[in-house]
Amino acid sequence: MSIGQHRRGRPSGRKDLGGRPRLFFGGQCYSFHIPSIQPLSHVVRWRMKLTTIRSTAVAVPSADPAVVSAPTPRRVVLPLGGPWGKATPLVSDGETVRAGQRVAERPDLRLPAVYAPISGRVDGIRDKYRHTGEKGPALVIVGNGSQEPPASEKPPLDDPVALARFLASVAPPEVDPHPWPPAARLASPEVAAKALDLTDPPFDRPLETLILNALDRQPGDLLRRTVARRFFRELAEAVPQLRALSGARRIVFAWYQGSDLPRDLQEALQRAGVDIVRLPCKYPIALEPLLVQAVTGKEVPMPEGDTRRLGCAVLDVCTAVSLSRSMATGTAPLTAFLQFAVPSRKMMTVYEVTTGTPLEELTAQTERPHGAPSKVIAGGLFLGYAQHDLSVPLTSDVESVFFLGPGEAAGYNYRACFNCGNCVDRCPVNLMPNELGKYCEFGRFEEAERQHLFQCIECGLCAYVCPANRPMLHLLRYGKHELIQMRKES
Ligand code: SF4
Ligand code: SF4
Repeated sequence: MSIGQHRRGRPSGRKDLGGRPRLFFGGQCYSFHIPSIQPLSHVVRWRMKLTTIRSTAVAVPSADPAVVSAPTPRRVVLPLGGPWGKATPLVSDGETVRAGQRVAERPDLRLPAVYAPISGRVDGIRDKYRHTGEKGPALVIVGNGSQEPPASEKPPLDDPVALARFLASVAPPEVDPHPWPPAARLASPEVAAKALDLTDPPFDRPLETLILNALDRQPGDLLRRTVARRFFRELAEAVPQLRALSGARRIVFAWYQGSDLPRDLQEALQRAGVDIVRLPCKYPIALEPLLVQAVTGKEVPMPEGDTRRLGCAVLDVCTAVSLSRSMATGTAPLTAFLQFAVPSRKMMTVYEVTTGTPLEELTAQTERPHGAPSKVIAGGLFLGYAQHDLSVPLTSDVESVFFLGPGEAAGYNYRACFNCGNCVDRCPVNLMPNELGKYCEFGRFEEAERQHLFQCIECGLCAYVCPANRPMLHLLRYGKHELIQMRKES
């Protein structure tokens, strides 16, 4: 099967590779990949509209949370799906694998492969749920207690072409939806052509700006600022390679206005020639379309959300640190950063967790968060997903898990919209969320699409401000999902 048969939504780019496998890139968010792109004249023009969020649900610690290495898990679950299509296993049931070994790869070798994060034995391929609620095949490895990867040959740091090929293979899953994986997104036209055989637009356009995004995605998140402060050396060490790879004239570090930037981090960035840009601590400034507009003044074409067309690329600092380590060691990232929060106990910890650790195993091995949390949310308070069991694997595209106690999680209901207009007022994309929500609720999906449903960046502000407690984000995601399914089946 080709990658294109497994990705969600419409491919945002393709390249004819003759008899070789086609390279399809999709995204992990429906927002940017629609079954039929609206003509440009119908595309909603959006303006920067940001909101100050005062969250009472989350006790934000005044000091940085601790960064703790989570214990090595007894088993890991490695999803074989994802935004870049299904990976094919290279190992069979019962086979012994070593940490760092490539255990699955995609038909197109320029797309990220899957690596064993622990040594042990393959315990089958099973259908498993992700934190997003999707179900798909995953490789299960039962560990033998070892997580030490064998010494690997380091990629040649002074050769951007070889580096791009290396990064294409080892890039970890990212939480932000991107039309392209990191190596393709960050490659200059010359490197994209030589290393990845990508010459069509937007890869023919030079990159002007590379943004290292240290802004946390949503209220309650502290992961990126913590990782940036704690691992600033790795971050700065990656800058020369990222500059050579991308050819970007300007590398920007996005940070908060009014938030302390440690002197050592600041000096490391300045030595590396990185501009520090401070942006307001308002939501949803960290989401890519708004971030790019805030930094460059350019409006990202939606719904594709392809910032390369503007000569701009974005890399979050967690991914940047992971790639920096990979470039230094020659191994794929085997761990992921994860924020673990129990607001009722004022507990906020950043774990470096082995990729694929089941959430239930992390909670069993660490301090138990609650007797019975009323809600477990993976992926953040605004953008995340409530979990119906704790067996989901923790990968780098999860970023945070919140255990909310009774009274901390506001319940939704399906009360009728009374057209107060709050959601319309706050939507950063200038949509009519009230109308979209009603269309999706009553199955009028095509009408919702005509009203630009796929322009929605899924920020969740409409749900946050709705006095009727309508499950707006759920309805909008549901509508997009149904439309994409309808397109696939037709
Ligand atoms: S989630 Fe709601 S507020 Fe946010 S972009 Fe979509 S419709 Fe607008
Ligand atoms: S905020 Fe809620 S009640 Fe008000 S218009 Fe929007 S959906 Fe309707």
